[in-house]
Order: sequence, then C-alpha cells, then structure tokens
Amino acid sequence: MRKIKVGIVGAGPAGLVSAIAGAKLGMEVTVFEKVPEFRPAGAGFGIQSNGLRVLEALDLLDSFLPKLRLCQKYILTLSGETDLHYNFGELPIPHNHFAVALRFELQEHLLLHAEKVGVMVRFGHRCTGAEIHNGKAVIKFDSGNEEEFDIVVACDGIHSAIRTKLNVKTKELEVGQSYLRGVVPIQFEEDVFREIWGNDGRIFGICPLPEGRTFFFCSAPNEKWEEIRNNRLNEWIEGWKGHGEKVMSILKAVEDWNLVNYDNRLKEIQMKPWYYGPVFFAGDSAHAMRPNYGQGANSAMVDGLVLMKLIAEVIGSGGRHEDAGKRYDSIRRPFVSRIQQGARMAGIMSGWTSAPARKFRDLTFRIHKVIKPLSKQNLLLASGFNPKEERFFQPLAPAVQ
Ligand SMILES: Cc1cc2nc3c(=O)[nH]c(=O)nc-3n(C[C@H](O)[C@H](O)[C@H](O)COP(=O)(O)OP(=O)(O)OC[C@H]3O[C@@H](n4cnc5c(N)ncnc54)[C@H](O)[C@@H]3O)c2cc1C
Repeated sequence: MRKIKVGIVGAGPAGLVSAIAGAKLGMEVTVFEKVPEFRPAGAGFGIQSNGLRVLEALDLLDSFLPKLRLCQKYILTLSGETDLHYNFGELPIPHNHFAVALRFELQEHLLLHAEKVGVMVRFGHRCTGAEIHNGKAVIKFDSGNEEEFDIVVACDGIHSAIRTKLNVKTKELEVGQSYLRGVVPIQFEEDVFREIWGNDGRIFGICPLPEGRTFFFCSAPNEKWEEIRNNRLNEWIEGWKGHGEKVMSILKAVEDWNLVNYDNRLKEIQMKPWYYGPVFFAGDSAHAMRPNYGQGANSAMVDGLVLMKLIAEVIGSGGRHEDAGKRYDSIRRPFVSRIQQGARMAGIMSGWTSAPARKFRDLTFRIHKVIKPLSKQNLLLASGFNPKEERFFQPLAPAVQ
C-alpha cells in the first residue's frame, strides 16, 4: 500500500511529536521549519503527566529523564502569605509528576529521534500558507516553491501562516499579560514546584532543574521590558522583595539578563474545527493558551500523538479526511478548551490586586483545597488527564536505534 505522504510545518513540540508518531506509523513525513538551523535557544516549560506519557508512548522518555528533575509537590502562595500544598503524587494517573524541560533540550531530543525514524527535517523553509487542490494539500514557501502532500499538519504556532491563509474561523483573545523565563545556577534543597501570587498581581514561579540549576518565570510589564533591563534593572529587582527571599536570591543570581526570555502581551487562540480538508491543526496554531496551567506544550504533544494515530486508523484504511478530522476534533478540542478556560481563570485571578478581591479568591482556593474531589479534579485537569484519550498512550513501536 502507498505510504501516506505528510507535510508538517513547524519543528516545535507539536510538529516533532506528530512527525515521529507519523513515521512510526508508517507514513512518509517531511517537517518544514523556518529557522535556518537548530539553535540552543528558547525558554523552559513545565512538562506534566500527559507530556511525559507522550514521550513514553514514543519510547523517548527514559532517554530524556536525565534532563528533568521530577517534582510531586506544588506549593501555591496566595497574597504572599497563605501556602496551599498540593501533591501530584496523590493523583491516580501514570507519571504523576511535574518538571521543567528546557525547550531546546526537548527539541534536540525529538529532532535526533525524528531523523532516526526516517523523518526528513528541512530547516530554512518558511511557509507562507497552504492551498487545497483536488483533495491534496499544497504547502507554499516564501522562496516561491510549493510541495504537495496527502495531509498537512499545521504546527506553526500562535501566528500560524496556514491558519491565516486558509481563513479558518478563529478567535484571538488579548491576554494583557507578559512574562519572563530564565535559568539560574543555584539550587534549593527541595523537589518542589512553587508559585507565589503577590499582593501586586504579579506571579513568580520556581522549579528545580538537574545539575544544580533552577528555572524561574515571572510577570513582566507589557512592552517595557527592554527599557527596564537596560536602564533600571536593580530598581525592578528590588520591587520583588514582597515575594520573599527565594525570589530575591534567584533574581540576583541571573548571570545574563539577555538570555532571559521575554514573552510580550500573550494571546489566546480559539478555532473551530481543528481541521480544514486535508489540513489539520495541532498545538498553539489551534489553541494557544495562557501559561497558567503549564499545558500549552503538553497539549501540543498530545495533539500530535492523537492526530497521527487517528490519521493512520481512518485514512490508512481508506477513510475520508473529514472522518479523521471529526474524530480528532471531538476528542481533543472540548478537553483542551476546558484547560484553556482553567488557565484563563487562574491567570485572571492571579492578577487581582484589590484586597477584597484577593480575600475572596484566597478563601475560595482554601475551600476548594479542603473539598478533596474538587481539588483532585483541578489537579487532574492541570495534569492534562483525559480518560477519553487513554488508548492513544499505548506505546508505538520502539524507536529505530
Ligand atoms: C510565558 C510562557 C510560559 C509557558 N509555560 C508553559 C508550560 O509551563 N508548560 C507548557 O506545556 N507550555 C507552556 N507554554 C506554552 C508553550 O511554549 C507552547 O504552547 C508550545 O511551545 C506550543 O508548541 P507548538 O509546537 O504548537 O508551537 P511552537 O513551540 O510555537 O513551535 C512552532 C514552530 O513553528 C515554526 N514556524 C512558525 N511559523 C512558521 C512558518 N511560517 N514556516 C515554518 N515554520 C514556522 C517556529 O519557528 C517554531 O519552531 C508557555 C508559554 C509562554 C509564553
């Protein structure tokens, strides 16, 4: 039988997981990435149960574990004073942990294995859009070239050129918040992921990394970061005193502020459905979300795995694109929308500054915490656990060595 020919745009978490899964399922896969070559850049992100399970299904988890420091405890400090203790370890799901992965380390790991399973990765290819001709999908490039595929997976992130050019119905929501992410060469004696929500509406997050390093993220001013970094960094650092000593020791340990990642004015993307003929959307191109549940990249990886298994099942047995699309959309979109909503609520509430609003929020969180089923339900959602997806986490064939 002829192999399904798949073109994937974007070599981020969604694109590379889709590519590896597709190749392992017998498809002929090419990935197009706009940057000229792989470079060790980018920030870190939290990797959770669902992301760890994707790596395991692809037989790529054990080899990546040395890059992670797994935590089960999560401490949320509200209004700079009330500590709520959560434990991912109590969740009855596989890989009930949280860890931070550095984006370039995960990308390097996935790239290496993509090549081993026969994926062709072509850097320096900027896609300008896609068109559909006679049921096939054609990717267009800024060089003027184009290539035809049975299936295209748009993994080209939040500003997806494919989504824009196909004019797919999309809602873009301004988040109105900006963040910094960085790594410092200091270590705390605890395997704990901490988040501190201050009285001033700013968040600071701390997570241990292997090799004596710590990852941090924090709220940053919209637009103004470069001006602050260049002209009044010390004053800005001093402004974090209310968030506690750990925060101050991290900020003072930053070796090079130019290497701290700045994401200005985040946006959310909502689109419906997540396919358009033979073009399927995965990751941020379909559902960029607020970072407050640490689920964007994890969800992107699950999309890739679920989508490629469905394409193999439906299209591989002669079915229509639309049938694969409908199944993908009905399994993933409602669940990811719930994650987006949860992250949106957390993002909004973390930014509250007025005393009555914070008092109400803190009390609600404390009540939620003591009502075990509620607290468990929230943690399961934040961990990306969707019972309807269980079968997709069955291991694919072992990677070719
Ligand atoms: C502050 C912050 C904190 C976050 N924290 C977390 C977290 O803790 N946990 C988590 O899971 N997620 C987190 N995220 C979200 C996460 O980074 C994204 O959801 C994830 O990177 C999405 O993966 P993706 O593959 O869909 O897109 P991307 O990672 O954006 O990758 C898209 C790829 O496509 C390429 N590309 C784009 N356009 C084109 C084109 N026209 N042609 C060719 N190639 C193209 C890009 O160069 C890139 O390599 C956070 C995000 C932010 C901003």
